Amino acid sequence: MKLIIKGEYELYKREIELIFNLFKEEDDEIIFNNQSDDKNTINFLYQIKDGFVQTDVEVNVDEKHFFVSHKRKLTDTNDKTKKKLIKQVISFVWLQTLERLTGKKHDWGILTGIRPTKLYHKLLVQTKSYDKVNEILKRDYLLKQNKILLLQEIVKRQLSVIPDLYSLKNEVSIYIGIPYCPTKCSYCTFPAYAINRKQGAVLDFLQALHLEIDLIGKWLKESNKKVTTIYFGGGTPTSLSPNQLNDILKKLAYWVDFHTVREITVEAGRPDTISKEKLAILKKWGIKRISINPQTFSQRTLDIIGRKHTVEETIEKFMLARKLQINNINMDLIIGLPGETLVELINSLNQIEKLNPESLTIHTLAFKRASYITKNRGEFEIINRDEIVKMMEYSRNWTKEHGYSPYYLYRQKNMLGNLENIGYSKENNESLYNIISMEEVQTIIGLGSGAVSKLVPPNSETTSRIPNPKEPKVYTENVKELTIKKIKELNKIFLE
Ligand code: SF4
Repeated sequence: MKLIIKGEYELYKREIELIFNLFKEEDDEIIFNNQSDDKNTINFLYQIKDGFVQTDVEVNVDEKHFFVSHKRKLTDTNDKTKKKLIKQVISFVWLQTLERLTGKKHDWGILTGIRPTKLYHKLLVQTKSYDKVNEILKRDYLLKQNKILLLQEIVKRQLSVIPDLYSLKNEVSIYIGIPYCPTKCSYCTFPAYAINRKQGAVLDFLQALHLEIDLIGKWLKESNKKVTTIYFGGGTPTSLSPNQLNDILKKLAYWVDFHTVREITVEAGRPDTISKEKLAILKKWGIKRISINPQTFSQRTLDIIGRKHTVEETIEKFMLARKLQINNINMDLIIGLPGETLVELINSLNQIEKLNPESLTIHTLAFKRASYITKNRGEFEIINRDEIVKMMEYSRNWTKEHGYSPYYLYRQKNMLGNLENIGYSKENNESLYNIISMEEVQTIIGLGSGAVSKLVPPNSETTSRIPNPKEPKVYTENVKELTIKKIKELNKIFLE
């Protein structure tokens, strides 16, 4: 499908493209061209008149000729609100146009952002009524009932697990990024460098990280900041040696009293990085939650995606963690990995059933621009959208039947089937960090390579981000000045 867009599109190209991407198949494209004399065109018009924003779309494509129109009352004359409303109305009309043109339906309506639950929370604070929020999502955002109920279930659960979710802004959480893994998985765009070839660089990185922990730790202490949660991610933190892991935890524990932190998680995603010594160190420092990520229990797929560990190793390391009484383990699976169908998913879920982890995060494969799999898409056998939807539905039903409920959700650009990633857990085993981070309810201070600090000021709605360099060498060389800058920004939002 090639669509020529004409009319008043100039200011809203991005919205038009975002909605188009929901429907886009491999060779589809849109071309913005008011000069085109092609007969197959889509014409956009919008106007603000008598306190209403109105958008009209006229479609003349092949044998299809129709007109879609929508108008909405302007409740605020502030420029920002006005622009936001115009964007919404354009997206609304455009989605309906494309649904009619292609015959496809999109359950997420005009929501293209990554945090639909954040919008739900915002509307809930405004309206104080689940019914009203559901009505708004259906009426203004065209969400289908299944997604509305999913969001409602998640939001209710989050508020029962963290009753003070809306008043955590004076505390902070900490994220520590360790940018190393044994090898790079083909779908990965995280800062993850193969650790074995980098021993010298690892030592430099660790020195820089210790410095950053000291500077931020001192700030936390001096400003009397309470830490709600701590999360070690990356990369795979357990790629480090037992001593290196121990030293980081010791350094952090010097500044932060772990007993007052509600949750500490360490990603041990790659089973080939887990050892008895490392798990014992985590236990020693009181870490109760880890994540061991099989992604799939098919050896063939693991080999294709370059994970270089075996299915047996995943099971063996999981049992080892259990033996050491680590009682809150998450496992990640990815739907839509190359060559996989419902058969492989069922096999993976059968294995999960035997292991019985406390939480299970089900991702849909995302084609991120920088990943190997995206750059070489032709090399991989990927199933179609309908199959993916079936697999997602299967996993939803499976989790329900096995006592797992959804507690956080996010979407990514270029996800297979325009679906979502969902974190499920057994009761009282939700990851608090995941909820806090996804809903952006408090500042998260990111330390280490590629870690992004998200600043959520206690007295304003405007959030901002401060990314640390992804490349360990750049991070190492600049850590001191970057951290001093970060502390200045933290002071601005908390102390001034
Ligand atoms: S284990 Fe995770 S962080 Fe490491 S390369 Fe694979 S996907 Fe990336």
